[in-house]
Amino acid sequence: MTFTINANGYSISLDSREQGADIDFISHAHTDHIGAARSSSSVLSSYETSYLIEKTYGIKVRRCERALEGVKLLDAGHMLGSSQLSVTDYDSGNKTVYTGDYLLQRSRVANPITIEEADTIIIDSTYPDPKIEFEDREEVERSIQLWVKTKQRYGTVLFGAYTLGKSQELVAILNDAGIEPVMSKKLAAATDTYNELGMRLKYQSAYSESSGFPYAGKNTVGIVENNSLDKVAIMLNQLDGRRVYTAVATGFAAIFKFKTDVQFPLSDHADFRQCLDYIEQSNAKRVLTRGSGAKALAGSLSRKGHAAEVYGAQIEAEQRL
Ligand SMILES: [Zn+2]
Repeated sequence: MTFTINANGYSISLDSREQGADIDFISHAHTDHIGAARSSSSVLSSYETSYLIEKTYGIKVRRCERALEGVKLLDAGHMLGSSQLSVTDYDSGNKTVYTGDYLLQRSRVANPITIEEADTIIIDSTYPDPKIEFEDREEVERSIQLWVKTKQRYGTVLFGAYTLGKSQELVAILNDAGIEPVMSKKLAAATDTYNELGMRLKYQSAYSESSGFPYAGKNTVGIVENNSLDKVAIMLNQLDGRRVYTAVATGFAAIFKFKTDVQFPLSDHADFRQCLDYIEQSNAKRVLTRGSGAKALAGSLSRKGHAAEVYGAQIEAEQRL
């Protein structure tokens, strides 16, 4: 068992299905974190995360019914319902926090992050490069609003976005500029689920029987899944010859060049600077990195003087002591 925290007589897997784990923690409802949901008989997650998994993917989540001493979920700031796992081992007194995907900057569609002091943190490493610094999110949001309002005078504006999280954040940003975007069927369903969980996002469905096809005959702002952006842009252009401006809003805009008219670096992950802030606020003596850039992040943090290493089997050995 590699990716588990063992304490107080139980073993909790962290966003993955691990053999022998009693409980499977799922930090949030993005597909790369919910692998344990289908087969687990004891899922630990926020109410929102379980709800989003059930409604979005049609998976029945069997929730953990046990009262777990020393276990606490903390908001992670990354998307609606995203949580960190805090575990205090009563024998050793050691507290470990696993962040999952996290964001220190404020998002319109997630509770702000809570950072508590901990002995050890297992921290996400999606953006390990110290040279990548995300702009202030409010500035990115303002540039999105300005670009949309400008381009909408000349044609239709179309965003590609992930189903959960980024799509709803775009709706909130556009609503704030007085715009109700048109959403594809899948994104509309996900946004409905967000609204069922207390959000007040206003959008039109591209497939509403009562209002017809809202793209026809006027300049519109739409949001579709990333992988259908090109196809829908061509289709809308062919509909009436209207110009279609395409955009993405993702942290990867700081790294990659997208084939869209514009790309906004709106990330729902922490960059390296936010990672350093997190470590400082948590006062952690030991930092374990996890995720695609785990090795690079551990290296960068070590050069800054932190006791950092790639998360692996060592945590289990340590907590058994
Ligand atoms: Zn995520």
